[in-house]
Amino acid sequence: MSSTDQTPERLYVAREPIFPRRVSGKFRTLRWWLLAICLGIYYLLPWIRWDRGPNLPDQAVLIDLANRRFFFFWIEIWPHEFYFVAGLLIMAGLGLFLFTSALGRVWCGYLCPQTVWTDLFILTERWIEGDRNKRVKLWNQKWDFRKARLRLSKWTLWLAISVATGGAWVFYFADAPTLLWQLVTLDAHLIAYSTILVLTLTTLILGGFMREQVCIYMCPWPRIQAAMMDEDTITIAYRDWRGEPRGKHRKAEGAEALGDCIDCFACVNVCPMGIDIRDGQQLACITCGLCIDACDEVMDKIGKPRGLVGYMALSDETRERAGEKPRSIWTHVFRTRTILYTTLWSAVGIGLLVALFVRSDIDMTVAPVRNPTFVTLSDGSIRNAYEVRVRNMQGAPRDFAITVTPSDQFTIEIEGAEDGVFTVPPDVTELKRVYVIAPPGSAPATAQTTAMRLWLEDLAAAERAFNDTIFHGRTAQ
Ligand code: SF4
Ligand code: SF4
Repeated sequence: MSSTDQTPERLYVAREPIFPRRVSGKFRTLRWWLLAICLGIYYLLPWIRWDRGPNLPDQAVLIDLANRRFFFFWIEIWPHEFYFVAGLLIMAGLGLFLFTSALGRVWCGYLCPQTVWTDLFILTERWIEGDRNKRVKLWNQKWDFRKARLRLSKWTLWLAISVATGGAWVFYFADAPTLLWQLVTLDAHLIAYSTILVLTLTTLILGGFMREQVCIYMCPWPRIQAAMMDEDTITIAYRDWRGEPRGKHRKAEGAEALGDCIDCFACVNVCPMGIDIRDGQQLACITCGLCIDACDEVMDKIGKPRGLVGYMALSDETRERAGEKPRSIWTHVFRTRTILYTTLWSAVGIGLLVALFVRSDIDMTVAPVRNPTFVTLSDGSIRNAYEVRVRNMQGAPRDFAITVTPSDQFTIEIEGAEDGVFTVPPDVTELKRVYVIAPPGSAPATAQTTAMRLWLEDLAAAERAFNDTIFHGRTAQ
């Protein structure tokens, strides 16, 4: 309660609806292009076919959860290669740090799904209800047939976009044409329908009704990025030393003392966040650049130089106020922090590329059987058992042999493979029980542990993989 008038403090302020006006200019054009590219990739990617032979899916990008594999064009990631996914996530994080530190909230303004879908929803809203003035009028008028018709048309279109968005997501997890047929014939798994439902509702609510509230109240990124930006970060600002004192009446007495800002509110009316960039740096500003386009349009009309609102580094403010030229953009972009991020990003990227090109398409993991640690055979030999997981990452069956080194100290037996050779079907992981035997009285049989190496060999391709493990002798507990 307020100490003076006892009026309860309001913890939640009702949302003021925002009706962004249409604007054109270079940043708007750039955003249209990015919107088309992002949506095009998202909706079309699962439909690109990629021939991988008879045993693998023909989908270029597929997250195969059932077989725990990820397909990306010619690259196939197996579960034991999760470090590729981890590496890509690290690169995405470092890339975000790099771009935020150099160019502020470019992610928020141009590529974030919330921004892209909100832009699409605003576009359809404008298409059905008209530009800002018509939408404001419609909002304020009483409900009648026309208002109901326009609202219903808009919501129907929003719902269609939302269903398409949720629907496209599930196509990344199964063969898209098959799943589409299953969905329309009501033959798909319940999980597919529930995923589409959840994503449809979230897209509709977040993109259609909550819009800027997601950025201001729900997303943690605006708070985190404050730690990544500094005075050299290029961001959007209003050049108040040029614009102030603002005023509309250019021809009035004393108008010559006014700055370049004619207080037309064009920059405010186009802002999807409903803020006034002239109030200074704000958490709500996603740096979408639309206020730059709007103000440049106005400056062109009144014959003043563009850039009253524009990208700039705050460290240039003093120079600009003094009428000096700002430093080159590269001076701001290339600094210790961004060079460090670029170096780390490149190092992880090069590491992943090297790992991708040197990886073998056979692989094994070895797990010693501990219960019991060893068995003494009737002739006094000591035998250890191992669970060997063999991966054939090719699209054809392959014959494998498992051997052991040092070969003069051990012999080997493979369960189910009398001659020591076994076949693994294409693209599967097979579990084999392998016995390693040390002769009676030999060094490994009497030592507590002996290091040894198990080899997996593709007999046709002469390709090998190995795994180091331990042999337990009879002194082991
Ligand atoms: S103030 Fe300008 S850059 Fe920031 S969100 Fe609004 S229109 Fe976009
Ligand atoms: S668009 Fe430019 S001139 Fe108009 S109010 Fe905004 S800053 Fe001032």
